[in-house]
Amino acid sequence: MATSISQFYCPLLSPDTKPRVKQYPPLNIPKFSPCRTKIPFFKETCRQSTLKYAFRSFTDLLTEHVNLLLGNLDHVYAPLLELCATEKALLQGQQIHAHIIKSNLAWNSMFLNTKLVFMYGKCGSILNAKRVFDKMCERTIFTWNVMMGSYVSNGEPLQALEMYREMRFLGVPFDSYTFPYLLKACGTVEDLRCGAEIHGLAIKGGNDSIIHVANSLVAMYAKCNDLSGARKLFDRMNDRSDVVSWNSMISAYSGIGRCIDALGLFREIQKAGVAANSYTIVAVLQACEDYSFMKLGMEIHAAILKSGELLDVYVANALVAMYVRFGKMTEAAVIFNKMDEKDIVTWNSMLTGFIQNGLYSEALQFFYDLQDTGLKPDQVSVISIVVASGRLGYLLNGREIHAYAIKNGFDYNVLVGNTLVDMYAKCCCMIYAGRAFDKMPNKDFISSTTIVAGYAQNNCHIEALELFREVQMEGMDVDAMMIGSILLACTGLKCLILVKEIHGYTIRRGLSDPVLQNTIVGAYGECGTIDYMSRMFESIECKDIVSWTSMISSYVHNGLANEALEVFYSFKETTLEPDSITLVSILSAVASLSTLKKGKEIHGFIIRKGFMSEKSISNALMDMYARCGSLDNACKIFICTRNKGLVLWTAMINAYGMHGRGEAAVELFLRMKDEKLIPDHITFLALLYACSHSGLIDEGKRFIEIMKNDYQLEPWPEHYACLVDLLGRANHLKEAYQFVKSMQIEPTPEVWCALLGACRVHSNKEIGEIAAQKLLDLDIDNPGNYALVSNLFAASGRWEDVEGVRMKMKESGLKKNPGCSWIEVGNKVHTFLARDKSHPECDKIYQKLAQITEKLVREGGYVAQTKFVLHNLGEEEKVQMLYEHSERLAIAYGLLGTAKGTPIRITKNLRVCGDCHTFCRLVSKLFERKLIVRDASRFHHFEDGACSCGDFW
Ligand SMILES: [Zn+2]
Ligand SMILES: [Zn+2]
Repeated sequence: MATSISQFYCPLLSPDTKPRVKQYPPLNIPKFSPCRTKIPFFKETCRQSTLKYAFRSFTDLLTEHVNLLLGNLDHVYAPLLELCATEKALLQGQQIHAHIIKSNLAWNSMFLNTKLVFMYGKCGSILNAKRVFDKMCERTIFTWNVMMGSYVSNGEPLQALEMYREMRFLGVPFDSYTFPYLLKACGTVEDLRCGAEIHGLAIKGGNDSIIHVANSLVAMYAKCNDLSGARKLFDRMNDRSDVVSWNSMISAYSGIGRCIDALGLFREIQKAGVAANSYTIVAVLQACEDYSFMKLGMEIHAAILKSGELLDVYVANALVAMYVRFGKMTEAAVIFNKMDEKDIVTWNSMLTGFIQNGLYSEALQFFYDLQDTGLKPDQVSVISIVVASGRLGYLLNGREIHAYAIKNGFDYNVLVGNTLVDMYAKCCCMIYAGRAFDKMPNKDFISSTTIVAGYAQNNCHIEALELFREVQMEGMDVDAMMIGSILLACTGLKCLILVKEIHGYTIRRGLSDPVLQNTIVGAYGECGTIDYMSRMFESIECKDIVSWTSMISSYVHNGLANEALEVFYSFKETTLEPDSITLVSILSAVASLSTLKKGKEIHGFIIRKGFMSEKSISNALMDMYARCGSLDNACKIFICTRNKGLVLWTAMINAYGMHGRGEAAVELFLRMKDEKLIPDHITFLALLYACSHSGLIDEGKRFIEIMKNDYQLEPWPEHYACLVDLLGRANHLKEAYQFVKSMQIEPTPEVWCALLGACRVHSNKEIGEIAAQKLLDLDIDNPGNYALVSNLFAASGRWEDVEGVRMKMKESGLKKNPGCSWIEVGNKVHTFLARDKSHPECDKIYQKLAQITEKLVREGGYVAQTKFVLHNLGEEEKVQMLYEHSERLAIAYGLLGTAKGTPIRITKNLRVCGDCHTFCRLVSKLFERKLIVRDASRFHHFEDGACSCGDFW
């Protein structure tokens, strides 16, 4: 025996003595000395004073009266052990234990041994408790209860239940104190069967009506999720004056979200006249789970204030948490500020509240205040602050708190790890996110979802896909959210095969929530597979607004504006109402079709539905009118919009530019500056474009300087291209080329393209060749660029080179866009290709066109300029080709189908050729019609034989 517990002789030297117990100075224990009269006094000392003082008087007792102690060992040691237990002073407890063994006299005392078990159990040293328990030759039910209680309170419910079986095997009779321990153990492991068995034993022994047993039974059933069983017992209780029974029932209800029942019981407890305690109040406050309980919660709050004594730190914390759930941060803060005693739970409730209500900056400030108090932020606080840093995109704060988490070992927690990964992703810092993810010792399903979403959202598509494969290999579960992220990545890669694969996967796995289905529609749309997209759309059973909108915007995105309009009209027939996103999409469709009539119709719809006050809508409306050729209406929208944002100003500058009103654009820019708005890259792009289309050379050069010097905006290639275009149009080709050569960044295809376009107009072969060669050297993926190059060769009759470019284009899989024009007549958009014979009124149109051409030749001196025909053909055929360009067919149809005097609006997908431009000028004069032609780069307003572009486009 002595060897087995020899460690007790030198506890101070033992290195594995747990630091979780309080440290006290070691004892100096002398030899025994008995003293009868001192003993009652000593017991009193132990009960009332500190451990240090009790030990001092114990030492005195031993020094002076050692012999007298011999018969009263129990009375001396027991109070000391109890004191050690309440103070959780394991070290001192062990010393007493050693002393008892050394004395040899008291070793067989059942009473003292039970006290030792109790002391060890309370001090959290379950192993030592069990050792003492096992060595006992004789035990009472009290000893068993103490041991079982140690197991339960030290989180070892299964051991307690093991002991229960042993007791039954040995036939140890239970008393009423055994049952609460056993029932608590059953509740903790949610073992309803065992609980019911013990309930049976309690009934058999007549213990079930004893109040503390009955309370434990209610709590056990509640914890085992048998609420009705608990409630039945509770209702059958004869004596319901004990608040503990009520508390068990109320917290059971509020714990599983049956808030109404919890609050109902609270009403009853008040009626029954039983005094609620702070446990009751906390449980009831927890039951007020959302805003719908606001009134009730405030009533309870008032009752607490009235009682005057219920407001302790637990109740106050519950109150703060309740107001936070209601989203009432001001009320929460009032309680918080009034609290004298705040613990970390209080601070965390407030922190969580700020986060849940989107007050991230406030959360950060609050966290710094918390650090000033000297309280130590815990895991919950850290998580809140990581979330706040992520939402604000404050990488520095995020990293700071990450360092704090590492220092305190919180980063091992999976929840903290997940939040950190998410924070780095939200700060667009995927390298750190990846590192934080890799360092997580335990990852769960959410970790993978978070990092995959982060990669997908930060355009790291490949990484997202790789991780997704890993997750699949590990056999982890995949949910709709992760699939959504993966579809985003596939869309980013424009990889149709992957989208199809993922789509198939979702079908196999039965993952078909509406959000995911809409995402798949969008993904097919982004990949340009219209047939898959519409089939997916048709298969959605309950189409919501998002389904319709993603269908419409996908059509718009793929240049199928007519189809987008059709979908919009079917959408309007459903019971659903479009939102501003749908309307912005459809306005963009209308704008690209230039169907002013439809645009006005939708404008009316927008007014009726009250969307006019939305910024995105007024921007889109203005842009629509401008692109439909109605600059007046665009101006009206601009003037009527209150609180104009930068987007609207920029769009208006752009509109003026498109319509060749360069001076107006410049004037608007100056007005915008007066309004203290800061222009951005896009504003300058619109401005330079406007200058370029109106030949404002000096202004253009000045603005690019202003952009660099006054606004510290480094020009994009697009800005340079605009300037080159501007110089080139004005036939300053040498200066333009010089400028390209002096550019600080490598010229992009756009820049060469602008130069080449200008060279073509001004027939400058020398610089044109250089630009064409540069353009061919760069990997170009725009069919328009190939067309420009081959046009250059065609203009000088180099048909072999033209053929070479055509071959190269064919190899790269690009197709030249056929020229196409359209016009809105009646309620329909009519589309014409060159030499088109598909229109039902084809014969009439060609007849009309011949009449027009004849009149132009006769009265306007029109002569076809065949240099604009870029094919190796005879002169006769070239003239014929020019005659049948698509815009001329559209004009002929316009003259046939619209009333005299009304303007004719035509849209063309490519630039208008020089010969057609002359044609339009003459038509506007000889037929007395305004012609508004939108081509790929701008608007031409033809009136009385002149064009707004000044023959300069
Ligand atoms: Zn033409
Ligand atoms: Zn023009």
